[in-house]
Amino acid sequence: MAEPTEQTPTEQPAGEQPAAPTSKKGAKKAEAKAKKEALKAARAAELAAAAAKVTLEDDPAQDNYGNKKTVSGLFSKDAEDIEIRNLNDGHIGKTVVVRAWIQNSRVQSAKMGFVELRKGGNWNIQGVVMASDEAPVVSRRMVKWITGINLESFIAVEATVKQPLEPVKSCRVSGLELHITKCYVLAPAPAMLGMTMAAASQPIVNFSDEKAATEEPDKAPEVATESNAPSASMLTHLDNIAMHKRAPIQQAIMDIRIQVKRLFRSYLEERGFKEFEPPALIGAASEGGGNVFRLGYFGEEAFLAQSPQFYKQFEIAGGRERVFSISPVFRAENSNTPRHMTEFTGLDLEMEIKDSYQEVLLILEGVLLSIFRGLQEKCAEEIETVRSVYYSEPLLLPEPGKEVRLTFAEAQKLLREEGPAEFANVSDDEDMSTAQEKALGEVVRKKFKTDFYVIDKFPETARPFYAKIDDESKKEGVKVTNAYDFFIRGQEVLSGGQRIHDPVELEERIKAKGVDPKSDGIKEYLAVFQQVGVPPHGGGGFGLDRVVAWFLALPSVHLAAYYPRTPKRLAP
Ligand code: ATP
Repeated sequence: MAEPTEQTPTEQPAGEQPAAPTSKKGAKKAEAKAKKEALKAARAAELAAAAAKVTLEDDPAQDNYGNKKTVSGLFSKDAEDIEIRNLNDGHIGKTVVVRAWIQNSRVQSAKMGFVELRKGGNWNIQGVVMASDEAPVVSRRMVKWITGINLESFIAVEATVKQPLEPVKSCRVSGLELHITKCYVLAPAPAMLGMTMAAASQPIVNFSDEKAATEEPDKAPEVATESNAPSASMLTHLDNIAMHKRAPIQQAIMDIRIQVKRLFRSYLEERGFKEFEPPALIGAASEGGGNVFRLGYFGEEAFLAQSPQFYKQFEIAGGRERVFSISPVFRAENSNTPRHMTEFTGLDLEMEIKDSYQEVLLILEGVLLSIFRGLQEKCAEEIETVRSVYYSEPLLLPEPGKEVRLTFAEAQKLLREEGPAEFANVSDDEDMSTAQEKALGEVVRKKFKTDFYVIDKFPETARPFYAKIDDESKKEGVKVTNAYDFFIRGQEVLSGGQRIHDPVELEERIKAKGVDPKSDGIKEYLAVFQQVGVPPHGGGGFGLDRVVAWFLALPSVHLAAYYPRTPKRLAP
């Protein structure tokens, strides 16, 4: 049966839509382009609105297209319902039903038009709609209606799969095309999108959370834009979250993120680690009061966990031997940088030590290398998609057996001797600044041909109270710890080390760091070591978001999070 007598085609014709706000640099160019496109879109909308007034009662193809709430019973019984990514040469000549977003459309003539359908990340295919008097009937009005559907509307089509005369270069499924005989809009998009797919697929040039861009001391480097499609700011991306997510680059980043978790879990499970879930709600700001979120809790105060550190150690004390967790971590730091978020996902592990803390270092190094190598092998396509937007050199990894492990003192020496002149006087007992870390990354890459390395034996001053001091160093000038950081491309991704398991030593260190051993959270922590004998142990943790971002050399960690949380942003 025919549906409504008056079909309401969606008004947006083929083509792009206005540019979203851009960075200061690209703003002028994008603004001019946006104006031009807005004019174009308005003109096209007028035309489409005129077309919308046409009643289609007398259209012989009226049952084959239109806006529908459901398509149940509208398609041929023998048509196979299929995802674009599963189409192959075996489908040539067959009738299929495909559900997808309309990504682009083009009118060739009154009798013919093209639409590009997309689904499943960056799987797209060309659809052809051609007027035909023979069954299944496709009218000229139907051609016009389909090519006038607003971009990013969700549609369902019935089509015959054919081989195009020439491969369709613009589509991932280039060797097939869909000759559309039925087309229904299930969810129309508005005529004007807040951000077009072209803009969503461009490098983001401004990561500020402020509406009016302010000077950011630690701003992400601007990315050169090859194409003249408009670029949007991160703010516009987040205000148009669905379009942000629909972009193939974002889909690829999230698939890589999933793979990192999978590789982390499988590497550790194969080595006898057991997963556990630390609490996010805690009763005391035990790891330092400054950067903890406070919230009301039945008339009392509660806090959001800054790390699963104590809980990993409780698991070891509780006899779990080797544990890992994947959990949210909260930091109330007013750090508006491309490296920081107020909430991120922590990938953490803790294990008993038999003879040396190096056992932990080797596991942590092993898990990260297995993640990086696993990504290069399993996510080659996704990595390519990301690189097509944010170009980067592949991550240089050390050959097995040639891993670079420097002590903190060796790293500082290297920086003094081979780094930029401004770091000629860095000292061995002060933590490194971000600029020093980046400079060291370049020296290490040049000298050792790797982007991944470990810096061990951090000075005691740069580590928390639970870090075990290297007994040997107690005799020397600078006290160092059995603790390390791991770096990729000159940026820290992981912190770890041996923890103090002896309660007397632990209490001493707590006091030495100016913390009251009887304070809330600390006394309960210390009590665990006093109540039972806890074996020597160590561990480490890294931010999932940073590993993904720095592996891909993204300009900001915010791009690697599903819903980045920053001091100025809690939505969406
Ligand atoms: P930074 O000095 O860069 O602020 P940090 O020394 O505070 O980091 P740790 O407390 O050692 O970091 O946390 C362990 C890991 O968690 C880091 O190596 C990093 O991968 C990640 N991480 C820490 N803080 C953040 C943050 N604010 N946003 C995203 N990831 C973070």
